[in-house]
Amino acid sequence: MHLIEDLYLGWQPLSHTVDCPRPTWDVVEERRDEGARIVSTGAEQHACPNDVCSHSDTFRRVQLRLLCRDCGTVRTVTGESLTHVVSSVTDSGWGQAPTERAGLWLWPGQPVIQGGEARDYLVTREHAETVSTENLLGIITRYRDASGAPQWIAGALPDAAGAHQVHSLRWRYSSNGLDDLDAAAAWIAAAETRTHRPLVVAV
Ligand SMILES: [Zn+2]
Ligand SMILES: [Zn+2]
Repeated sequence: MHLIEDLYLGWQPLSHTVDCPRPTWDVVEERRDEGARIVSTGAEQHACPNDVCSHSDTFRRVQLRLLCRDCGTVRTVTGESLTHVVSSVTDSGWGQAPTERAGLWLWPGQPVIQGGEARDYLVTREHAETVSTENLLGIITRYRDASGAPQWIAGALPDAAGAHQVHSLRWRYSSNGLDDLDAAAAWIAAAETRTHRPLVVAV
């Protein structure tokens, strides 16, 4: 299971040259081979504190190669013990289209069971390409109360100095337990308008 914030936030597009006329990558290619470790002295095997490492002079190397013919950028992504997982949007949550609730857009986290419902959602105001720290408005997460009934908690307005923590992120507001996803989305929508309304004090 991935935390929903790790699924959506902190991902950066691989950049092209600033003047690239059509910034899209050709078909991404993969190559698997043996990579040589750099050892300081000829025949000696390297020693490192990693228990999982075989300490051999070669390792199973995976490389990904990207090319843009329009700006001529070539990127090679490689690493030792690079893992490669094939999944689908149904199983990862990420990559699914957002759904509209209470006039906001909800982006699902990874379902708890394969093909099931998500337990967490990130929320944006607009139907954007994806969620980023720039357009993130709220978070909704499900838990079970003492009687085992599902409840939803919403956080609204991300703020590093916010008083409320939901998952690893801090928020200006967070709700009490709400009965369903629609109520949680409506609560976020209301939290947003509340901050835009000037405080009127009757005297
Ligand atoms: Zn390019
Ligand atoms: Zn080693």
